[in-house]
Amino acid sequence: LGAMEKRDSGRASAAKRVAVLGATGSIGKSALDVLERGRDDFELVLLSAHSDAKGLAKAGSLWPKAAAVLSGEKGGRELLLSAIAGCGADIVVNGISGAAGLEPSMAAIEAGSDLALANKETLVTAGEIVMRRAREKNARVIPVDSEHSAVLNLIEGHGRGATEEVILTASGGPFRNLSTAEMEKAGPADALAHPTWNMGAKISVDSASMANKGLEVMEAANLFGLPPEKIRVVVHPQSIVHSMIRTIDGAVYAQLSPPDMRLPIHQALYGGGTRRADFGRLDFDFLALEFFAPDTERFPLLALAYEAAKKGGLYPCAYNGANEAAVEAFLSGRIGFLDIARITGYILGNDWSARPTDIASVMEADGRARAMAEKEMQ
Ligand code: NDP
Ligand code: MG
Repeated sequence: LGAMEKRDSGRASAAKRVAVLGATGSIGKSALDVLERGRDDFELVLLSAHSDAKGLAKAGSLWPKAAAVLSGEKGGRELLLSAIAGCGADIVVNGISGAAGLEPSMAAIEAGSDLALANKETLVTAGEIVMRRAREKNARVIPVDSEHSAVLNLIEGHGRGATEEVILTASGGPFRNLSTAEMEKAGPADALAHPTWNMGAKISVDSASMANKGLEVMEAANLFGLPPEKIRVVVHPQSIVHSMIRTIDGAVYAQLSPPDMRLPIHQALYGGGTRRADFGRLDFDFLALEFFAPDTERFPLLALAYEAAKKGGLYPCAYNGANEAAVEAFLSGRIGFLDIARITGYILGNDWSARPTDIASVMEADGRARAMAEKEMQ
């Protein structure tokens, strides 16, 4: 018994301390599944949701020692930020949706925690600031977005100097084969019916408009320190190839697996090295993989994202804020699907060239872009 006690306490101290932000969402649930499968390896110290109190209680039921924060309550936002600062997490999984995830990401980095980042808006709105601060604090920013997780593996495997370009795959979403006239008539239910991934509402609409891939181009540029010209998008409807890199000798390397967010989460949580996971084995028997060039005329939000990425400054932040406001309006039936791109393009017509120096100036620009979009939608 003595030996067993010792082993147990040894185990407890070796367990990685994990926080899961956005625990009631699609990413949050996948993260909790990975944690449960690795119960001996992890200790959940904090979990959060915004307004879904019931879901939060359910999410934490297997981890009675974890603190739970509901950020949508009065004072909840401050509570969330101080809980991230004080929970002593080795790694924080950020599965919050939207630009609301930026400050929680920063709080994790400031606390010296590693950041398993699903919230791509963090890097789109404030990539330079976030990556610099992470280097200073010796905190790792580990992508959980499936494409970027694959790219990270491929670049680590072949060397950054050998990487000529990054090739992000895009499913093309539910409107891949629709004409512009057909998209004009599309409603929220059509946009939410994603062919290969089951995700939250915002990112599902972004997949239908390809704004998601636009955001991912900006995310990759910041994560891997690449100019947008070196990040190519290829439509791949099956979502089996999660992304590729082309090396300087012309070879192309790809990472394949069934579409399941638990794999990138598992890899981020275990960090380096290969650990057994018992989900997602690819079956080659009926596998056909297709690749197409993206059509930026039918999906103008992809072209707008490249433009914003090239201009830099606050353009990516404005792109994200305007798109977020427009998607919200689309989901509540206030505007049509094509208006999302029209409004985002219109907001980007303003001057966003100022270079943000801190998170406060980014949040201010985000609010300004949203307010301008709201005014345009009235
Ligand atoms: P969901 O909408 O499913 O979940 C969002 C989570 O964030 C919920 O827990 C929600 O709480 C919480 N939340 C919402 N608003 C706020 C806020 N203002 N402050 C704090 N918490 C908030 O989203 P997803 O899981 O689909 O996406 C989360 C992030 O991960 C996004 O940035 C997305 O782009 C990214 N991502 C998602 C993928 C996926 O497969 N789902 C793939 C790659 C990236 P509540 O339930 O209480 O509202
Ligand atoms: Mg992705």
